[in-house]
Amino acid sequence: MSSEPLVVVEGLRKVYRSGPKEVVALREVTFEAYPGELVAVRGRSGSGKTTLLNQIGGLDRPDAGRVVVAGQEVTALAEDALVALRRDVVGFVFQSFGLIPVLSAAENVGVPMRLTRTPSGAREERVRMLLALVGLEQHANQRPYELSGGQRQRVAIARALANRPRLLVADEPTGQLDSQTGRQIMQLLRALVRSEGVTALVATHDPGLMTLADRVLEISDGVLREVALQQS
Ligand code: ADP
Ligand code: MG
Repeated sequence: MSSEPLVVVEGLRKVYRSGPKEVVALREVTFEAYPGELVAVRGRSGSGKTTLLNQIGGLDRPDAGRVVVAGQEVTALAEDALVALRRDVVGFVFQSFGLIPVLSAAENVGVPMRLTRTPSGAREERVRMLLALVGLEQHANQRPYELSGGQRQRVAIARALANRPRLLVADEPTGQLDSQTGRQIMQLLRALVRSEGVTALVATHDPGLMTLADRVLEISDGVLREVALQQS
């Protein structure tokens, strides 16, 4: 690929220590992801997927190695710069949706733009646009408990895109959904990566979802390798 990588991960190592016990969660993980790519990270439960995504998104710090996202060396950033990175450069989607229960769908999507002090007119305009993008324009005023699991995850995806991130990090976004709804969410992510030009790293252990990814990385006991995609 000719363009510069958006994500560079080099020699990433993470060790969890609890008392005398050590768990090596990442073993010298190295890969790159390019602008506009949807990269699936697959692996069994406990293989290191969440640990990897957390180091890349600046939610945690590794023991060795480096991460660069959009030209910023994440692993060298001070805490306040990490806060800005997570607000402006990376959008997060989690298995459990992470919506604020007392806020409507529209208000949840607007939260990241309040953090960046986006003027209310522009904010409301973008909230409308994002809810339409994820097919929820009719549900703007409903609270999370009034939405289905798939609809909640659509709200969370719209919120993750609010500040126009370069990178979308999704940790088992379909993990709490039935397989058909999960597939719809993956198809939505696939479409958004194309239309919004973001790069997406999606952890999943659902083999049926791999066909939608541009590339598949497999992690096993903290060791990452690239999987050759089957032509379909
Ligand atoms: P996955 O997301 O693929 O299920 P994780 O990244 O959550 O895997 O976990 C990788 C390994 O690190 C597992 O053995 C897990 O038990 C361990 N681990 C994860 N988080 C912690 C933690 N905070 N403290 C200790 N061990 C942890
Ligand atoms: Mg996990």
